[in-house]
Amino acid sequence: MAVDPTLPYDDTNIFARILRGEIPAKRVYEDDFALAFHDIAPRAPVHILVLPKGSYVSWDDFAARGSEAEIAGFVRAVGHVAREQGLVTPGYRLLANIGSDGGQEVAHLHVHLFGGRPLGPMLAG
Ligand code: 5GP
Repeated sequence: MAVDPTLPYDDTNIFARILRGEIPAKRVYEDDFALAFHDIAPRAPVHILVLPKGSYVSWDDFAARGSEAEIAGFVRAVGHVAREQGLVTPGYRLLANIGSDGGQEVAHLHVHLFGGRPLGPMLAG
């Protein structure tokens, strides 16, 4: 079901549980501000999710409530993962789905990092 980004953060969501270590994930990077792991249903040869560790539902929620350190840390973590995965030269795509029209399924802000092949048009249809 699509996420309603106007609802308060619900810490039973699946990514909150991964962040707490309650369920496993194929982790590729972690620091004080962010966690990155492979998507369970990859849509590209490389499909990694990068999450801020704080309790934020959406990009606008994070932009409004996140501290300077959290925002800087998250942005740097995304860049770090892209470099570490060897995606900078061939190129890659970042995507954040927000709310119902955005198709967001998990109510904890995350960025999809896709790579490993030419990714085609920006939007289907
Ligand atoms: P959204 O539509 O919210 O941007 O995307 C959620 C993503 O989370 C989907 O690509 C989905 O495959 C992934 N996902 C959902 N549940 C899990 C899980 O338990 N583990 C991992 N690694 N990925 C998940």
